[in-house]
Amino acid sequence: MLHKIRIPETCRPYFEWIVELQRRLLTAICQATPDEIETEWIIAQLSDLDAKWVRTFCGRKDNISGVKRSMIDHMCTIASLPVDVKTKLIEEFDRDREFQKAFEGDTSHTYLSKLTILEAEDSRIRQAVRGFFESFYDPNFYPKQGYQILQVSGRLVRFDRDIFVGKFKAANQGEAVRPLADLEVCPMCDGNLGKPEVDHFYPKAHYPHLSCHYLNLVPICSNCNSRSYKGEKSPLTPKPDPPTVDWFHPYLRSAHDDTFEVQFERHNGRHVPVLFNSHSQIQKRIDNLNKLIKLEERWRQALSGIVKATIGDIRRVFRRRRKILGKEELCEQLQEWADSASEGFRLIPHAIVKRYYLQSAADGQPHTFDELWISATDTDTLG
Ligand SMILES: [Zn+2]
Repeated sequence: MLHKIRIPETCRPYFEWIVELQRRLLTAICQATPDEIETEWIIAQLSDLDAKWVRTFCGRKDNISGVKRSMIDHMCTIASLPVDVKTKLIEEFDRDREFQKAFEGDTSHTYLSKLTILEAEDSRIRQAVRGFFESFYDPNFYPKQGYQILQVSGRLVRFDRDIFVGKFKAANQGEAVRPLADLEVCPMCDGNLGKPEVDHFYPKAHYPHLSCHYLNLVPICSNCNSRSYKGEKSPLTPKPDPPTVDWFHPYLRSAHDDTFEVQFERHNGRHVPVLFNSHSQIQKRIDNLNKLIKLEERWRQALSGIVKATIGDIRRVFRRRRKILGKEELCEQLQEWADSASEGFRLIPHAIVKRYYLQSAADGQPHTFDELWISATDTDTLG
């Protein structure tokens, strides 16, 4: 979303297959009566899956809303709903499977309004719907439970979270500088990706029917995924139509490297990076991203380390050349470092803020240049 990223195309048919399984089973249980639904009946509906695996799947209990219920319980609850409620559930599921059309300007449907059924007063119904959809996600993503898929070659393969993250990284190799390098920073905040967590961009608590949608799964850093930042917040604005208009999306609409610039304001003696774009629509998206993951605040913290490191680098240059450089020479040096920071985009954490900071100083902007100049030429500490 901050960085332009690609869907791992090799995973896409797999996710589409899972969503088809959800659709097929949901349609079957919406047409059935609760007393028909038992394990052998489910095995018949999911005839392309291993029967032993389906038995485990049906008996598996989740703990949504703090009450343990099995997949069979969820399916019986859904089957017992009035016909019009079941029809609406399928309609809304079908509508949002196509939610990417909202990013293409299609306003013929209200994509991504929450499932009507999740407003039901009966918590058992809400739990059943969430449990039904999420039960396809959980076993899918935990390495020891991944689905076994029978390939055309006859080979059984597993699919799990680690495979997805590996394919995601491979699909997002750096292009310009290190052709074989993977994306090594968080696509959402440009910080350290570390051991990524798979985020449901539209949270599964509110959009359980998108829990396995290939456009709704994105590896991001654990900070971005935590409750302090994105957590279960929905990156949508209910009022505008479509509700996606004021937001970026990991795969469908990214801020990319050149749709914004970073400016530096001075508050209480410290630099505050401010993301800026002259186009009001893009600025709105940037502001929403900033609010969602407190990007400027996190970049401000990263920036204090960058400033300290740059002052150290300047002093090393002075020592190497055995003199304090003139202001013009220092600007040339800063420009060189700014260019090399650009080459670290997608590869080195916080290369974006570093690049804009060094560029601002190289251009002789008073806030940034003076800070470096005064600190680096302070003869008391030069040593
Ligand atoms: Zn992040």
